[in-house]
Amino acid sequence: MPLTSPSVALPSFAGGVPQFDGADRGVPSRRTMVTWQLPPTGQDTLSLSAFQTKNTPPLAVPPQQSPLPKAPDPATYRSAIAALPGAESMPPEIYHALIELGQIQNPPWADTYLRSIGVDVLFKNGMEALNLITSKGIRVDFGDMGNSKAHAQWLKDENLIMINQRYQGDTSKATLYAISEAIYHEAGHASRNGDNQASIQEEINCLGMNTLGYLYHVMTDADYAANTSNSRLIQDGVALYAKLFFDPDPNKLALIGRVIEKYGYLPAHTPDHPIPVLPGKVPLTYLVLEQLQNRRAKEWIG
Ligand SMILES: [Zn+2]
Repeated sequence: MPLTSPSVALPSFAGGVPQFDGADRGVPSRRTMVTWQLPPTGQDTLSLSAFQTKNTPPLAVPPQQSPLPKAPDPATYRSAIAALPGAESMPPEIYHALIELGQIQNPPWADTYLRSIGVDVLFKNGMEALNLITSKGIRVDFGDMGNSKAHAQWLKDENLIMINQRYQGDTSKATLYAISEAIYHEAGHASRNGDNQASIQEEINCLGMNTLGYLYHVMTDADYAANTSNSRLIQDGVALYAKLFFDPDPNKLALIGRVIEKYGYLPAHTPDHPIPVLPGKVPLTYLVLEQLQNRRAKEWIG
């Protein structure tokens, strides 16, 4: 089998692959949406890149537009944070990060774009994440993550969102924002079943959350936008993913490479975080799988 034709399972297109007009850059019309055609005889696998190029518009980044929704008054949710487990000994950095979390509003243009490439956006705003944390009685705290390069982690058995303690003691606004964005990510893991079983799709969803949080802070605070700190949490974390998701490269190869590097060992998806069905477009997770398959095939042959 040629390497350009990896056998990645496509979404269950009953009876074959949907056909779209090439002329309209892949946006399916009502007429073509209902046309189905089997792949050519003998073609039991399909190159997703070919499918993507032929049938879909590039993963182009939309212009920033539409105003942000109004953030709630922190006075309305301070008491909910104060009632969380461990609140009496909660480090001030965590308390302030949770206040910042409650302020986050997904920029509508960014939210729409991420959904359009296959991110299942788990919260509309930080209040939804905060409500999940308070309703499940989740503790948020710093913790020792050993040599792990992870910035934060969801631990179901302890009902705990753990932030790497290496970020404790830094009360700069930038770090508090970044911690709130990390909590936004981990709250995504704690949502739905909140089990410990992650997947590539689930990580993509959660990376979408910290990216939306980061963009909100960049749009509302010019100092954060201009931040040049060398904090790993920012440069190797939240800022990096905003750059990768909104990379003008229509093939998003840098993003896909990073997801493979960090999460390529995980299962593609779980019932709790299914791969979204996008009419006329291949979701990001399938593009990740295609690259993974290519790499593994090369290793196996080479
Ligand atoms: Zn994660």
